[in-house]
Amino acid sequence: DLGSSLRSTLDDLRGKSRISEDDVDDIVKEIQRSLIQADVDIELVRELSDSIKQRALEEEPPGGTSPRDWVLRIVYEELVDLLGESTELPLEEQTILLAGLYGSGKTTTAGKIAWWFSKKGLRPAIIQTDTDRPGAYDQAKQLAEEAEVDYYGDPDADDPEKIAEEGLLETADADVQIVDTAGRDALNQELIDQIERIENTADPDRNMLVIDAAMGQSAKEQAQEFEETIGIDGVIVTKVDGTAKGGGALAAVNETDSTIAFLGTGETVKDIERFESSSFVSRLLGMGDLEQLAERVERAMEETQQEDEDWDPEDMLEGQFTLKDLRKQMEAMNRMGPLDQVMDMIPGLGGGMMDQLPDDAMDVTEERMRDFEVIMDSMTEEELENPRVVGASRTRRIARGSGKSEDRIRELLEQHKMMERTLKQFQGMGDADMERMMKQ
Ligand code: GDP
Ligand code: MG
Repeated sequence: DLGSSLRSTLDDLRGKSRISEDDVDDIVKEIQRSLIQADVDIELVRELSDSIKQRALEEEPPGGTSPRDWVLRIVYEELVDLLGESTELPLEEQTILLAGLYGSGKTTTAGKIAWWFSKKGLRPAIIQTDTDRPGAYDQAKQLAEEAEVDYYGDPDADDPEKIAEEGLLETADADVQIVDTAGRDALNQELIDQIERIENTADPDRNMLVIDAAMGQSAKEQAQEFEETIGIDGVIVTKVDGTAKGGGALAAVNETDSTIAFLGTGETVKDIERFESSSFVSRLLGMGDLEQLAERVERAMEETQQEDEDWDPEDMLEGQFTLKDLRKQMEAMNRMGPLDQVMDMIPGLGGGMMDQLPDDAMDVTEERMRDFEVIMDSMTEEELENPRVVGASRTRRIARGSGKSEDRIRELLEQHKMMERTLKQFQGMGDADMERMMKQ
């Protein structure tokens, strides 16, 4: 197993306090092997290992950090850097075109993306323009039914461009129009010409390249070709539920100067995840704990206190209180008990302070909490960080996506506001007030 081979090389470094060029060479060789086995493009592996080597020798590890952890962090950083954040997908009206080779998972992905947007409260439609593959019409239709979204296709037509044109008109009511296209066994001029024509007609906001995680060294050439023909704005890596490590994605991202939007994790429309670079990199190298290791070094560098992974009630008293905090608080309550007891655990806030909390602040019944969780799943990062942006139209969208009433969403926002107000009061107290409270 690759992970373990890389790990043992790294373990050899564990006891050492200084890192020699030989050490770096050894570990870089192991990393090269891991990356190549994971189907990362050879040239890219060379570039990566050069910068890893250079940084490992030039940069000074922070005190108390073993060379092993130091090199590991550099490897992790370089890979996360290369992959970038997941592709931005604004929740607004848009047309998305799916491109990729035959069997890469385009049609399945069309269903998945449609489902994902519908969960966010938008109304998607799938338009099937594949006239080559027998059964393509029925396959996409079935996926559209599974995702409960609009569908357009024409099983008797043979002009994909025309289907795209008609389909976009027929589904004009939809917010997100997803145009599926045909693939070929390998790239050929016919596919290239066809997708170029469809792209011209459909004029999509986003062209997404769908690649199979098992796609090896040929991912680069494929990505290059699609980038030149239609321009690629994001990559979707399918079948990451299989054994393939998905290294082809690195070349795809590199060649198209884009990022990964989604991962496909199975055959149903629900098997879709937003891409997250840190876990993808851990998986690529076969080291589940890479992220934690990198973070450990990060912490040593910042010389900050070890942050407890668990939610700490005292955090609520510092800084901004977002919906994410509310969610963590709700999760913590599941483990720790009701809010008033949780608050009692905060030094200085026990006893009398609790009387100042409005009674309603405690009224978080299990049913409401479950609804709140579902509602938060249908909200964007922006909305979670800054619930103030949620007005009437966003409330409607979130209600559609979560299947909960608009009243419930307003309740959640109200709950958040109330907690925030209460916490602001506590924040306003100086140390002297706190001390007085504690002496009481
Ligand atoms: P297309 O030719 O690009 O449209 O590919 P399809 O969507 O028809 O997918 C080809 C095959 O791969 C089908 O059997 C799908 O069920 C399967 N497939 C697609 N995505 C995934 C995935 O994320 N995981 C798994 N396990 N299978 C997938
Ligand atoms: Mg297809």
